Amino acid sequence: MIYLDNASTTPLDGDVLEAMTPYLKENFGNPSSQHSAGRRSAEGVLSARDKIAALFGCKGDEVFFVSGGTEAGNWALKGACAGGRGKHIVVSAIEHPALIESANDMKRYGYEVTFVKPDKDGAVRPESIESALREDTVFCAVMHANNETGVIQPVEEIGAVCRARGVFYYCDCVQTAGVLPFPQKHCDAFGISAHKFYGPKGFGAMFVRKGAPIQRLISGGSQEQGLRGGTTNTAGAVGCAAALEKAVRDREKNNGYISALRDGFVEKVLSLGGTHVNGGANRLPSTANISFDGCGGENILFLLDMKGIAVSTGSACSAGAVKASHVLTAMGLEEDRVKSAVRFTFGKYNTSEEADFVVCALKDALKAIRRY
Ligand code: PLP
Repeated sequence: MIYLDNASTTPLDGDVLEAMTPYLKENFGNPSSQHSAGRRSAEGVLSARDKIAALFGCKGDEVFFVSGGTEAGNWALKGACAGGRGKHIVVSAIEHPALIESANDMKRYGYEVTFVKPDKDGAVRPESIESALREDTVFCAVMHANNETGVIQPVEEIGAVCRARGVFYYCDCVQTAGVLPFPQKHCDAFGISAHKFYGPKGFGAMFVRKGAPIQRLISGGSQEQGLRGGTTNTAGAVGCAAALEKAVRDREKNNGYISALRDGFVEKVLSLGGTHVNGGANRLPSTANISFDGCGGENILFLLDMKGIAVSTGSACSAGAVKASHVLTAMGLEEDRVKSAVRFTFGKYNTSEEADFVVCALKDALKAIRRY
């Protein structure tokens, strides 16, 4: 298989599996238990939290373990609404459904939501956020980089706007963890998900600035300072920390390697003709979202899949129901361009031979589809 869907998920790194294995086998104790089996497990959790805090650039008690990016987004939005005053929420129109649907949920409780559109290059302008904020705005979400286009957002400026107006700002860093420095100075909270940087699925972490007004979403035991009940996933925590440490350590090497692969690929795909890159130049190194004139994105995906190539159309997280990408639509792209978009996302295990193979397969697919 040639896997060019790394924004959707990544394979587990062998070193990460090795770090996790003792906590899946002999150190299986519940980290909340008082006996030594529990304490051994608790040490793994403590060390994972400290490592993640150091990488986030925050204190250990500002790191909360969660099940991933979806939970982090839900908790931030719903928890900040419960902890704040006012009935208005601002969410960018290009957020992951974790934020968009959480905002829609709050309408049932009398909240009003403003969805802020990006410009045609896929960037949300700080001025657009500023003019959307109201006296009664409690929460704002603009992601660090978009999962469909890879476009990096001006989070520093957006954070400054929110801070000046006393609005809780959440930054979804699911696509940028290990790729860009964390924006902890500019936001009240951000979330990451381990499976996006060669860690395990079903585990993530959320930074919450000390004193930021947020209520708990998951009631239960006293785990996570009483703010998120449930037995801690020790192996998940250890794996997340190991994966993040490695990703941050190898960041420059990986970013250079992956962007060179992606750029070479894009150049060859553009030379095929009738192709357009979606999103401006300030993108993540991994991502190429490309539209193909006269082709349905799903048809391309299908023909590539038959050759063992994995790519995605729109957001894989909301796949199953095939609907036009809300991100490309919000950017104002024409319907044809939205429907013909395919997302190729490169990772550290891809090679230039694979990229060349995909270009050839694409050429065949385009010829076959455009013939009809
Ligand atoms: N936010 C973004 C930007 C994502 O790309 C994803 C998953 O693709 C999520 C949130 C959800 O993360 P998780 O799969 O950990 O729930």
